[in-house]
Amino acid sequence: ADMRSLVLIGHGSHLNGESAGAVFRYAELLRERGLYDEVIEGYWKEEPSLRQVLRTTASTDVTVIPMFISEGYFTETVIPRELGLGHQGPVPPEGIARVLGGRTVRYTLPYGVHPGMADVILARAREALPDASPEDTALIVLGHGTTRNENSNKVIYANAERLRQSGLFAEVHALFLDENPKVGTWPDLVHASRVVVVPFFASEGWHTLETIPEDMGLSGEVTEFPGNPHGPQTVYYAKPVGTHAAVADVIMHLAEEARGAAGRDGDVDRTHEAAWQALLNLARRGGRMGEVLLSPHGGVFEVRHALDEGTPGADLHTVVTPEGLRDLSRWDAAGEHRPVHTYRTLKRGWRAVLSEADLRRGIHFLYPAVVEESYAHGCHSLRHTPWATTARRQTGIYTRVQRATPEQVAHVSREVCAPCLRTRLWAGEKLPRTFLDGVPGAFPCAEACTYLVAEIREEVSGKRGKPAG
Ligand code: SF4
Repeated sequence: ADMRSLVLIGHGSHLNGESAGAVFRYAELLRERGLYDEVIEGYWKEEPSLRQVLRTTASTDVTVIPMFISEGYFTETVIPRELGLGHQGPVPPEGIARVLGGRTVRYTLPYGVHPGMADVILARAREALPDASPEDTALIVLGHGTTRNENSNKVIYANAERLRQSGLFAEVHALFLDENPKVGTWPDLVHASRVVVVPFFASEGWHTLETIPEDMGLSGEVTEFPGNPHGPQTVYYAKPVGTHAAVADVIMHLAEEARGAAGRDGDVDRTHEAAWQALLNLARRGGRMGEVLLSPHGGVFEVRHALDEGTPGADLHTVVTPEGLRDLSRWDAAGEHRPVHTYRTLKRGWRAVLSEADLRRGIHFLYPAVVEESYAHGCHSLRHTPWATTARRQTGIYTRVQRATPEQVAHVSREVCAPCLRTRLWAGEKLPRTFLDGVPGAFPCAEACTYLVAEIREEVSGKRGKPAG
């Protein structure tokens, strides 16, 4: 069967549960289009992690898109390294293609540098000012700009140039928060009486809500400036480009261009399929996986917290979609974000009723990569990465974990890993059987997760207090 997978990579967060939201939303929009057999999310600081995500794809044809607004440290260093692409530095326009573990993996530029973003800027401008006209309307494309990454302003200038060529505006300006020409100089630069400002930012945040309005003197979506040097002006402030639904079109173009002349699609990845057949066999018999109970239920499957065994279904909150299961497993009973899904902090009081296909997606959301890694462990093909190797690989602010003593690593991981179902193979622990062989809480941990790496960094920095959560 012809098959292809799309993987969207986000940053995610150990602390903030909302951080992954934008990536989820685009993944859902792209799933609805149905051009890819599956759309999977992967994260630097959530699960499935960058180290795990390729293993969770069902096909041998994988296109990976970094969901970032500009090129930089994550798209050029962290993501290629963690995915194991064997590449560092700027990504060429045609992307990077590799064969990894039997899969053809294509890694693209971030969506923000795609020429199609000019259309997203235009869509945002039209929302803010539907009758923008070449007679009297100026467009400001507003970027962050920074002396650290000279690439980030190139994208802003390129988009401004494209929109200038379109002839849809009287003037088009590229302005920046952190470099010249600065955003605060707009009253001297812009002549038109109506001005649309589109922030070229990934999402709504401190810059779009505070710094930009402050630097420009804006008081809301529409602000009048009666006494400006070139006459009275009205500024229409648009929403950031990164959250517009049309970004889904850009992602699709980027993915199709990366596949280029690939011609035929991939196949089902056999190992992946075998792992999920093992899971389905467990579910058909009825059995436990970590904190949940899987049971056959009149042609479909039910998932519930094992501690809710025997509770009448009517007393439990019922979800019927994989996304429903995803959303109730992202926060614990106290409302705290769960960046490590294998922590024994799954809340109770619900059940998910899912078809076979939805069960696979639901379990992928509930325990990302656990089925694939447990199956691989059972086949003796799950490679362990000792702490020293993980530490050596780190860059940026995480470089300092290399200074952690073995005692510090042991001490921090004793605390951080205590609530986790996974068994630390990377630290020499043994796991003779997994949940697939009937030991419910037995999940392998092949490598220190980024949550532990971050906690060890805090320890080395002397900033680590009580363990979070
Ligand atoms: Fe769990 Fe510790 Fe492994 Fe992280 S490093 S996944 S907390 S066992």
